[in-house]
Amino acid sequence: MSDGWNSRAVHGDAQVPRTAGAVSPPIVQTSTFAADSAREFADLALEKRGSGFYTRYGNPNHAQVAAVLADLEGAEAATVFASGMAAITTTVLALVRAGDHVVLQRRHYGGVPSLLLNLLPKFGVTCTQVDQTDVRAFAAALRPRTRLVLVESPSNPLLDITDLRAVSALARDSDALTVADNTFATPVNSRPLALGADLVWHSATKYLGGHSDLSAGVLAGPAALLDRIWDTAVITGAVLGPFDAWLLLRGIRTLPLRMRQHNANGLALAHAMRAHPAVANVYYPGLPDHPGHATAAAQMDGYGGVVSLELAGGYPAAERFVDGLRLARRAASLGSVETLVVHPATMWQAILHADQVEDAAMSPGLIRLSAGIEDTADLVADVTRSLDAL
Ligand SMILES: *Cc1c(COP(=O)(O)O)cnc(C)c1O
Repeated sequence: MSDGWNSRAVHGDAQVPRTAGAVSPPIVQTSTFAADSAREFADLALEKRGSGFYTRYGNPNHAQVAAVLADLEGAEAATVFASGMAAITTTVLALVRAGDHVVLQRRHYGGVPSLLLNLLPKFGVTCTQVDQTDVRAFAAALRPRTRLVLVESPSNPLLDITDLRAVSALARDSDALTVADNTFATPVNSRPLALGADLVWHSATKYLGGHSDLSAGVLAGPAALLDRIWDTAVITGAVLGPFDAWLLLRGIRTLPLRMRQHNANGLALAHAMRAHPAVANVYYPGLPDHPGHATAAAQMDGYGGVVSLELAGGYPAAERFVDGLRLARRAASLGSVETLVVHPATMWQAILHADQVEDAAMSPGLIRLSAGIEDTADLVADVTRSLDAL
């Protein structure tokens, strides 16, 4: 596909049949579909990843948004889920069995280590966590029974970078599948499949939806692999509602436009924070002295809107900084049109695995800011004003 990102986001579903010429797709708000004959009913019931049998098996609104996502990720196919966690849980359950081993990063979105460290051991699946910035650590962790290597770059919340090309190659040599969480980058900024990953997934709740109005997940990759995972998805049953699929499609139409502003705002804020004496550390892969910058520059086209900063004044300064912002909403989540800010030390204690609490990601003065699409000058002024007041 030779079109640019904006064209693809708008026309990536051109092959999907339209209903009665409607330009905006109708919402197919139905749980089930009638067949014209017993024979057709049997065919529909057996179709994998179809969209005309029963909505838990697939729905036209799923098919349409999946077509655009597959195109943007450079994938043969995509499947949608009720949340990002539903996408990864279903994927892992589909692809491992008792005795298998999974390699994951030490830093991930908190739900991923919870899945691997708390749930999967019940089914006889073990895992090893590695430092994502060290390719040799991935090599050392691979075992004969390693089935999956889970990567996330940039990672939540310190924006660490994984060398996706090198890690995918190692996994491939070891007959393991690389599964990349592309939530922070989006396909506009990074395409893990082109770098060698086998599957890419998202919390579509974040940038893909982009408006803090839906919960969804996406998985993209080879159709044969998605067929296998779909067999499990039908069992786990985390089905995306047709209306939420429709909202997600609507969000994706403007993804490339929004990412341009998120990228510009993230970079400008990172520079402004770094120049401020109240800030001890800024974590943003677009800064030339970020330890992962060279790798990020090689595998990303932009660095996104999430910036984390560590305040010299610790927990009290973090609280005051967050309360002093006028344009940021204090809310979990990220990747939306409005700027969102969280103070992880107050938020994640409950959901993180006990081993992670000592991590730098839990430092009391750490703040994660997800820059929205407001004007860059306004966001920089707001952040600077709140830092000046510390
Ligand atoms: C939010 C998030 C998830 C989980 O997605 P949900 O849609 O909340 O289930 C996974 N990975 C990353 C990087 C996230 O930010």
